[in-house]
Amino acid sequence: MTNLYEQIASQWLQAGLHVCAPALCHSCNNLLDYDETWLCNGCREWFLPPNDSKCMRCNARVGPHLDTTDGCLLCKRDYFYFDRVVTLGFYQSQFKDVILRIKHLQGEQLARTLGTLLGEHFFRTQEFSPDFITCIPVHWWKRLIRGHNQTEAIATGVADILKKPFVNSILRKIRHTSEQSGLLPTERRKNLRQAFTSDSQALIQGKKILLVDDVLTTGTTANQAAKVLIAAGAERVVVAVLARSFGR
Ligand SMILES: [Zn+2]
Ligand SMILES: [Zn+2]
Repeated sequence: MTNLYEQIASQWLQAGLHVCAPALCHSCNNLLDYDETWLCNGCREWFLPPNDSKCMRCNARVGPHLDTTDGCLLCKRDYFYFDRVVTLGFYQSQFKDVILRIKHLQGEQLARTLGTLLGEHFFRTQEFSPDFITCIPVHWWKRLIRGHNQTEAIATGVADILKKPFVNSILRKIRHTSEQSGLLPTERRKNLRQAFTSDSQALIQGKKILLVDDVLTTGTTANQAAKVLIAAGAERVVVAVLARSFGR
């Protein structure tokens, strides 16, 4: 009964707040209904991906009926320490806008909301059931400057939906590295070599892990992190990201 009263009070409070300061959708800027938070229902639907043909390994768009069990033209020659990548969408239009917003401290709740959409998509399309969820770490210095790590917020949203624990800090970034964008694939690999480490072998040993990031381009970052997890004894690693980008 208390829950019912709490629910009614919370709905009244939400409605009251909307009258005082109408909230806008963080993607399309339309006015939100009192039962919508951060994103309007139209945008939520837009962010959930259609069931078109994607590569089983790297999630790139491919032609219909193509067997991608061993990868597509883009990823066939790459060695991945993770099984596959699952993405919500592509790094363009509205996706690009929201991903730029979540890098700022004010974007923390938006990142978590997008994480819940990623979690819903993952739950609907994947059989992989992780023991826990973790995320790509940032160097402590970068976290201090930004005030938060947006991938932690995304991973928390995913964990909320999958009802699995979010385990932070099992990976550490030990070197500050240059931004990956703008580097050639060989430079990306060099840039991230031995950038991650882990001293949580006991937690990782024999576990199925879902590794979360915001954007995946060549997969070098996720691959270097997955390599550390596998070396520490993880049974399997699957990667989930908000958006796939195709900059090479
Ligand atoms: Zn919207
Ligand atoms: Zn592929």
